[in-house]
Amino acid sequence: MFAEVIVDVKSSNTDRVYTYRIPEGMDLKVGMRVLVPFRNRFVEGYVVSITDKASYSIERIKSIYKGLDSYSVFNEKMIELAKWMRDYYKCYFSEAFQTIMPVGIKQGEKKVKVVTIKLDEISEESFKKAPKQYEILNYLKKRSPIRLSELVKVLNIDYGVIKTLEKKGYIEVYEEEVLRFGIKDIERSKPLVLTEEQKKAVDEVKRSLLMNRSDKYLLFGVTGSGKTEVYLQLIEEAIKMGKSAIVLVPEISLTPQTIERFVSRFGSRVAVIHSGLSPGERFDEWRKVKNELVDVVVGVRNAVFAPFENLGLIIIDEEHETTYKQSDLRPKYNAKEVAEKRCEIEKAVLVMASATPSLETYYKANKGEYKLLRLTKRISVSMPRIEVVNMSEELAKGNNSIFSRKLFSYIQENLKKKEQTILFLNRRGYSSFVSCRDCGYVPKCPNCDISLTYHFENKKLVCHYCGYEEPMKETCPKCGSKRIRYMGIGTERVENDIKKFFPNARVLRMDVDTTRKKGSHEKIFYEFKSGKADILIGTQMISKGFDIPNVTLVGVILADITLNLPDFRSSERTFQLLTQVAGRAGRGEKPGRVVIQTYEEDHYSIITAKDQDYVKFYNEEIKYREIFRYPPFSHLMNIVISGENEEKVKNAAANTYLACQKIINKLQNKSYNKILGPAPAPLSKINNRYRWQVIIKGEDRSTLEEIAEKVQNMKYPKDIRISLDIDPLNIM
Ligand code: ADP
Ligand code: ZN
Ligand code: ZN
Repeated sequence: MFAEVIVDVKSSNTDRVYTYRIPEGMDLKVGMRVLVPFRNRFVEGYVVSITDKASYSIERIKSIYKGLDSYSVFNEKMIELAKWMRDYYKCYFSEAFQTIMPVGIKQGEKKVKVVTIKLDEISEESFKKAPKQYEILNYLKKRSPIRLSELVKVLNIDYGVIKTLEKKGYIEVYEEEVLRFGIKDIERSKPLVLTEEQKKAVDEVKRSLLMNRSDKYLLFGVTGSGKTEVYLQLIEEAIKMGKSAIVLVPEISLTPQTIERFVSRFGSRVAVIHSGLSPGERFDEWRKVKNELVDVVVGVRNAVFAPFENLGLIIIDEEHETTYKQSDLRPKYNAKEVAEKRCEIEKAVLVMASATPSLETYYKANKGEYKLLRLTKRISVSMPRIEVVNMSEELAKGNNSIFSRKLFSYIQENLKKKEQTILFLNRRGYSSFVSCRDCGYVPKCPNCDISLTYHFENKKLVCHYCGYEEPMKETCPKCGSKRIRYMGIGTERVENDIKKFFPNARVLRMDVDTTRKKGSHEKIFYEFKSGKADILIGTQMISKGFDIPNVTLVGVILADITLNLPDFRSSERTFQLLTQVAGRAGRGEKPGRVVIQTYEEDHYSIITAKDQDYVKFYNEEIKYREIFRYPPFSHLMNIVISGENEEKVKNAAANTYLACQKIINKLQNKSYNKILGPAPAPLSKINNRYRWQVIIKGEDRSTLEEIAEKVQNMKYPKDIRISLDIDPLNIM
């Protein structure tokens, strides 16, 4: 018998199946990992099929050296998924397999030392001279067996005593295989009586589940409309049918409260996967799924690969979140697309949910590709009052501080009332756009409709998509004002000004600088929640998951920063962000207020966010997408060319551009394709490497895939690296 094996050698000419002989007596199954001889060494491989026919001359076929698992790591469906990922994201087979399997699998199971007591009777008398030994034995009488590490910690003892007790035969210490991360069962919650809208949603999805149809749904529900209760009851239905479920949530919302909502309904039959787990702990969660010890997995992006055999349902909460896309590592997959594919393969139902769906998703729902389910009403919390302040008018009235008079007086009132305030400022180092402080005008690229970025060195305004540039303007072309300048305030500035104006206020700041240490995010959050500060200043980190009843005021210091990111999605991001930020105010009994400060009060993102009208926002935004042919009317591919020598990088970028041009010309297909650039990337230098980019807009994804394959196989100078992303969510 022979096995078709994918080897873990990352190069394009080894990215195919190799045939190996299965040694006599080896119990090999499809989906196992093996060690195989490959070009004078041993490499890991993945068995994708077993056959009795060899594909080429039998004498030359080598034998598998040994198996690495006693079970199949991948079933046939997951192998199909891996193959799809390879083709769709243009990565190697082995990269796809390594993405699907848990990192900790290489370390294997963990064994821990466990202690049990062997004495029946312990008389205090006989331990008079050894009180510590007595204490330990007494404790063990109640709590045996127990992990050695726990015992040592609880009673603060050293191993010497344990050794002594073991030698005397009073206790036994042995190794046991454990699952590292266990869920404590908590008090159960009962299903709530559903509202009319919730019930309609549950009933419809339930029908798809019953009929094993791989239907796709968009659950479009305003914040607080009870989406989570819908998830819970759908999962319950799935379990009743003998199926299992995966719930994907953004890392930032995977809080203890979120986990609790699932555990209180389904008890210990829930596994949780988040990025705080060690590789070993991840592997344990994975094994719980594999061994059918759980029915539900709640987790981040890669939980989409949970190895259920009987998957019935995948739910994607906050589907518009960009963290579902893996942007840093290969393959640059999007868990949303993977979920779609997996549901097709497994005949499972997909439910994507959001209060502010991504344009692409809502577009597909409108076209009928996804079925639309709506929750239009909030269950309990009322919406805060949202006010927009035009900062140009503030300036005209002689107020040139970063706080409008309105926000200033609201902060003052809140301090007096002892209610809490959140001040929000989206700050990104590179986003240095230019704006007129009198009329709000922002220079944009005539080709790409994104804000031009100011370059200090040569005083030029540059488009990061297509490379268009123009000199920095001295006067505003719209109103003639001389107060046209680049915007650059940060959270630190806000903190300083708050301290200046309100010296008695207790202030916390949460941004990348104050949250570098592990756990500092939680620490600041709990400090603020417990009322140890009056004002919290922060970046987009604080836009989600903050559910604090005493927060009654949210101030957005400058909405324009998000609005003018050099990104075609900047309007969409602004709407989403303002909606989320607004949701932070007035979560308790007291009503909330939101003040949005901006120089562009007439921008549709601001107007529709103020009215909380997603559909109106969508109808405006989709027009721009169509005019400029951005997604959903095209696919983008971003090719980043990097290296230490700027000239070489520039040359390589120019060559890439030409190569792409050639490929497109040769294809001669009739669909729309356009190559932008080469241009310096928004993050133009990282780790001493210069970065340039070429962006391709194409109507057919297949064209981009073809270009991707060719570009990845192009010859470049030694130091030059090419990184490529199809359907990127961030172009930086
Ligand atoms: P969303 O996920 O849409 O933001 P949640 O699921 O958090 O909304 O629901 C908001 C609040 O309403 C929660 O406290 C939840 O327990 C409550 N809730 C949801 N559905 C119901 C219902 N049918 N009856 C009563 N309360 C509900
Ligand atoms: Zn102006
Ligand atoms: Zn441009």
